[in-house]
Amino acid sequence: MQPLRGTKDILPKEIQKWQQIYNIANNILSIHNYQEIRTPIIENTELFKRSIGNFTDIVNKEMYSFNDQGARNITLRPEGTASIARSLITNKLYTEKTVNRLWYLGPMFRYERPQKGRQRQFHQLGIECIGSNMPMADIEVIKLANDILQQIECKERYLLEINSIGNIEEREIYQFQLIEYLKKYESELDIESKNRINKNTLRILDSKNSKTQEILKTAPKLKTYLSKTSLKHFDTICEHLTYLKIKYKINNYLVRGLDYYNYTAFEIKTNNVSQQNTICGGGRYDNLIKQLGGPKIPAVGWAIGLERLLILMQNNLKIETNTIYITVENLNKVSILWDIIDILKEYELQFELDLSNNSLTKQIKRAHQLKSKICLILGENEIKNKSITIKWLNTGTQQNIKLSSLRKYIEYLKKI
Ligand code: ATP
Ligand code: MG
Repeated sequence: MQPLRGTKDILPKEIQKWQQIYNIANNILSIHNYQEIRTPIIENTELFKRSIGNFTDIVNKEMYSFNDQGARNITLRPEGTASIARSLITNKLYTEKTVNRLWYLGPMFRYERPQKGRQRQFHQLGIECIGSNMPMADIEVIKLANDILQQIECKERYLLEINSIGNIEEREIYQFQLIEYLKKYESELDIESKNRINKNTLRILDSKNSKTQEILKTAPKLKTYLSKTSLKHFDTICEHLTYLKIKYKINNYLVRGLDYYNYTAFEIKTNNVSQQNTICGGGRYDNLIKQLGGPKIPAVGWAIGLERLLILMQNNLKIETNTIYITVENLNKVSILWDIIDILKEYELQFELDLSNNSLTKQIKRAHQLKSKICLILGENEIKNKSITIKWLNTGTQQNIKLSSLRKYIEYLKKI
């Protein structure tokens, strides 16, 4: 039996890294008063259609949607922001606080062609700062992405790319001009861009096709359609990023795939072009919550793709086996085993009990194979006189101590 295409098991040997990412995120984000939120993995399909946008790739071709037994149309969440906006409204979180700082980590689902760094079930870590329209909120979230990436010690360099896509009115005027311009070159555009002209025009800016890029060089520029307010918002962010020494590149073609963004759009990319190199995507979304039936509350956030982040993580995790291996000559006869286990638990020492009931020699060999440092031996003699033989596997030295002095022995070990 194989897992579904585009899905992967996260095995015990990999889980430490996942836990490390969770812990780093939890630490940094808690310090900044971001609180974890866990929303359901399934939502009404309508939620994603209304928030992400009908003409986007996600809604158009990537959603896992199905009808449940009650004929409800349901979708496995393709991203986190829509659900969080929904939850904010459902639970009226905005009445408790003017600014809600939230974070999440969990699986997302998109029907895409699987490749390195692209799966059908993947995981995102994301944050949302909901309730402020100040540029400071944008800077706070960008800084937090940077803080987390720094602490995770990515082995490759990454760079923040940032753009302002203005507000809806500015974008509409611009879009109109862009359509006019592109229509003149329609026959020369790549197929995908051609399809996007009337539906998702701005995404054409993002095209990787060289002919399309050439045409775009002389196209109207979004920036020239931005109002003073939009430009000021953007400039303030850039000033602070410079102060914070967070390197960034202004990318006038960056628009992002989702409909709900306004003003700030950003991505963090590595310069490795041979694989999926966008690790984080985010931006400001001041209209989404109203659009979903809530009050008008501005917000800004991002999501990091964890599978892509894991590829970049330094292999600086030492896989330590400090496990104490317990070997027993006759498993069914040793009640003092429970006393030993209780003491190890009390001192939070990790242990593994050999359950094979094989000969002691075989069990000790197993301890060697598992690279344990210490092996506890409970043979017939030990059991008779309530003692334990402690064998240090790296040196081969061993000593016999009374069960009653095990605590003292551990305390002594802890000091050296
Ligand atoms: P891409 O252009 O690579 O498809 P996207 O713009 O669709 O990315 P977002 O919706 O911005 O991605 O999601 C944020 C992050 O989630 C991405 O930068 C990426 O790291 C990760 N991500 C998105 N889709 C996938 C996927 N199918 N598999 C693994 N990670 C993904
Ligand atoms: Mg995508």
